[in-house]
Amino acid sequence: MKNGFSISFEVFPPKTEYAFESVKNAVHDISKLKPAFISVTYGAGGGTSRYTLDIARKIMKEYGVPSLAHLTCVSSSRESVREKIRKFKESGIENIMALRGDLTPELEKGDRSKWDYRHATDLIADIRDICSDMCIGGACYPEVHPESLNQEEDIAFLKAKVDAGCDFLTTQMFFDNNLFFNFMYKIREAGINVPIMPGIMPITSAKQVERAIKLSGSFMPQRFKTLVDKFGYSDETMMQAGIIYATDQIIDLYANGIKNVHVYSMNKPEVAEKIMSNISTIIK
Ligand code: FAD
Repeated sequence: MKNGFSISFEVFPPKTEYAFESVKNAVHDISKLKPAFISVTYGAGGGTSRYTLDIARKIMKEYGVPSLAHLTCVSSSRESVREKIRKFKESGIENIMALRGDLTPELEKGDRSKWDYRHATDLIADIRDICSDMCIGGACYPEVHPESLNQEEDIAFLKAKVDAGCDFLTTQMFFDNNLFFNFMYKIREAGINVPIMPGIMPITSAKQVERAIKLSGSFMPQRFKTLVDKFGYSDETMMQAGIIYATDQIIDLYANGIKNVHVYSMNKPEVAEKIMSNISTIIK
C-alpha cells in the first residue's frame, strides 16, 4: 500500500475436498497476476476453516503472493478460536482479516451458551494477545452495517474495533463511489486513521446482482441499474459491462487518492485478468 497503486483479489475456499482442485487452479491463475495480496474468506461457524488455511498457505508458500486469511468468531468458543489463531500463526500466516461473521437465522435459533464472542473487536483483542506481530484487518460499511441504528453508532463501534488493534480496514462492496468518499471523510473526522481499502465487486450476471444486493444491502445507482436492465439478458454481456463498470469505479478511486483497491472477483481468474489488464499501465 505504500508503493503506488495496487490491487488485491478475494477468493473463497472449497466447501468439500472434491472441489479443492478447481479452487486451487483458480487461485493459481489469479496468483500469476501478481496482485498485492489475495484474501481467502472463511465460513461463519467455521464450516470451511481447514480449507481457508490450506488455500492461504498455498498462495503464500507455493505461489509467492502475500495472503490474507479471514477468520470469523460468531457462534465459537474462545478456546476453539484461540486454537485456530495459534494454528494460523504456526502455518506462517502473517495477515488475518478478523470478522464476527453473519448471524444467520439458523445460528440465531441454536444454542448460544457456548458463544464467547459478541463482536469482531473481541476477536481482534484475542489475536493481538496471541500474536502481537500479526497484521490484522477489519470490515467496515460505507452504507452502515444492517444491524446498526445509524452511521454515527456504526462509526463509534468501528473506532473501538480499530483501537483494539486493527491495522487496516476493508469495506463492504459499494456501487457508488460517492458513498465511499463521504464515509472516508466521516471516519477520518472520528479519528480513524488506519488505511482503508475499498472493496469493489465486478458483477458478472444478473443473478449475481440480486444475491450481492441481498447480502450487502448496497445501493444501486440508476446508472448501474440501467446497465443491468440493458445487458443482464446474458452472462457474456453482463460480464463485459460489469467488468467495465468495476474498472471505472477503480480508476475513479485511484484518481481520488486511493492506493489499494480490493476486488471481490472471487474464484474467477478471467474476471481478475480483465480488470488487471484494464489498469495495467496505471498500476505500473
Ligand atoms: P462487527 O464489527 O462485530 O460488527 C457487527 C455489528 O455490530 C455492526 O452493526 C457494529 O456496528 C456492531 N458492533 C460492533 N461492535 C459493537 C459493540 N461493542 N457493541 C455493540 N455493537 C457493536 N463473513 C464471513 O462469514 N466470512 C468472511 O470471510 C467474511 N469476509 C468479509 C470481508 C469483508 C471486507 C466484509 C465487509 C464482510 C465480510 N463478511 C464475512 C461478512 C461479515 O461477517 C458480516 O458483515 C457480519 O455481519 C459483521 O462482521 P463484522 O466483523 O463487521 O462485525
